[in-house]
Amino acid sequence: MDQADTASRDRVRQFVRRIVATEEHELDCRAVLDVIHAYVDMDLSGGDAVAGFPGIPHHLMQCPDCAEMVAALRHVASLEARGQLPAVDHLWRDLQSAVTPHGLRPPDRPLLSGP
Ligand SMILES: [Zn+2]
Repeated sequence: MDQADTASRDRVRQFVRRIVATEEHELDCRAVLDVIHAYVDMDLSGGDAVAGFPGIPHHLMQCPDCAEMVAALRHVASLEARGQLPAVDHLWRDLQSAVTPHGLRPPDRPLLSGP
């Protein structure tokens, strides 16, 4: 079995696991995104985010998009805590330099990589 077969099999297993773990009442992404910043803030400040936001952890296990958003928010929070958030004018300059006559090109480095 090659790597592609293994990766495909892993994706199928993950999909089946998500289906089996589905509950009768699920939060949708919009409901999660409405409170996700508060969930991350509570979690990072040592609060009981699981009790404060029931259903969110389950949704995050089921939804890679929302889980990715949480990871991004945690990353931004960690940059902020270390005083490494890029200044807004730096972000703006990076975005402007990324725009070409043919559209947007990928930035040379992650926009939130810090100074
Ligand atoms: Zn979601």
